Amino acid sequence: MREYNTEILSVGTELLLGHITNTDARDISELLSKIGVNVRWHTVVGDNPERLAACVEIAKGRADIIITTGGLGPTCDDLTKQILAKSFGLPLTENAAEREGLYEYIRTGKDFTPNNFSQALLPEGCTVFHNRWGTAPGCAFEAAGKLVLMLPGPPNECVPMFREYAIPYLKKLSEEQIVSHSVRIFGIGESAVDQIFAEEMNAMRNPSMAPYAKECDCLLQVTAKAKSEEEAEAMMAPVIEHVKARLGDVVYGMDVESIEEAVLPLLKERGLTFAAAESCTGGDVARRITEIPGASAVFAGGCVTYTNEVKARLLGIDRALIEEQGAVSEPVARLMAERVRAVTGADIGLGVTGLAGPDGDGVHEVGTVFVSMAVEGETFVRQLHLGAFRTRSFIRRMAGNHLYDMMRRWLTGLAV
Ligand code: ATP
Ligand code: MG
Repeated sequence: MREYNTEILSVGTELLLGHITNTDARDISELLSKIGVNVRWHTVVGDNPERLAACVEIAKGRADIIITTGGLGPTCDDLTKQILAKSFGLPLTENAAEREGLYEYIRTGKDFTPNNFSQALLPEGCTVFHNRWGTAPGCAFEAAGKLVLMLPGPPNECVPMFREYAIPYLKKLSEEQIVSHSVRIFGIGESAVDQIFAEEMNAMRNPSMAPYAKECDCLLQVTAKAKSEEEAEAMMAPVIEHVKARLGDVVYGMDVESIEEAVLPLLKERGLTFAAAESCTGGDVARRITEIPGASAVFAGGCVTYTNEVKARLLGIDRALIEEQGAVSEPVARLMAERVRAVTGADIGLGVTGLAGPDGDGVHEVGTVFVSMAVEGETFVRQLHLGAFRTRSFIRRMAGNHLYDMMRRWLTGLAV
């Protein structure tokens, strides 16, 4: 296959000032890696016509595909289309369908000013990416031997538009289809995964595989190229089976974003609910599940019981016991899971109490966390030593991963 070297050119002064993070470039890069398009450069430039034009010249000199984000809106600092069209010698012409669409938008009574019509001006002959998530359309065109794609800046427009239009558009460029799957792993790190498969990975060309670290877990990405998607899938199937068999029960899912996303359907299949009593995670366990659509079928609720006082008042844990054992202890964790289960009537109760640092409690090392799970007739507690050098956010996320992992193991009949 011909290699298409790609440059992502993100336009926006806010990016340079550090007001926002360039999540568009990250998300586009991730999507492109899955279809085998090489992203070689990320460039960020402010809303300045000369500097943007200069960046476009640099991109033209080195990339085959130029993808811009931002600056497609109606305001005077939105100049991406103008500069790109000029650089490639294309006039901007009004797109009738887009103009009609903008009229439609006005009729629905949405906030609109006359300068919005400038959004219907597009480079002549381009393929229009209609924006169902906002107003500014994106587009793609080929000129001077380059392929140019323009997407609006807001991530909730940019990313769905990229998936819906840009990916199929780019896939058509090549006769080969690239398909990849990620095997998600919790319990061993990416360097351990690398060790296990190092020799095989070096020898493999197509399909290929590579381990990646994620925040507090890791994945093995398996990719295959073939004439059709079906063929690529067929080539990958035995590799994925082999990987799963070799790794065993540390594999928690395929092509999911997180361990909670893998646990949700397991609970749903069995019609079970859970609740969580959280101390050091401060509600993060609850937040993570409720970010996923359909959480109401499996998540009953929970409480953040941060102080000893609140552990006693909300969960009815004996104050004397907390004083005596310490809030970060096996018996307190056990009771948190059991009591939240009883109070909420959920099938599974979770508890988490630990030291997220940087200050310790004089007894335990920072990073000591007790995670617990209560089910009918049984309570499990894991004592974790997550490392005194770790950040608070790592310790909190890791503690949550362990809780979801405990549920996953119990639900699939594995030893907790
Ligand atoms: P709009 O029609 O909303 O003005 P636009 O295409 O003109 O869209 P910009 O004006 O550049 O986009 O950016 C609008 C908002 O989108 C920014 O304030 C920012 O919140 C977000 N945004 C822009 N670029 C990025 C980026 N690269 N990554 C993440 N967010 C971005
Ligand atoms: Mg704008």
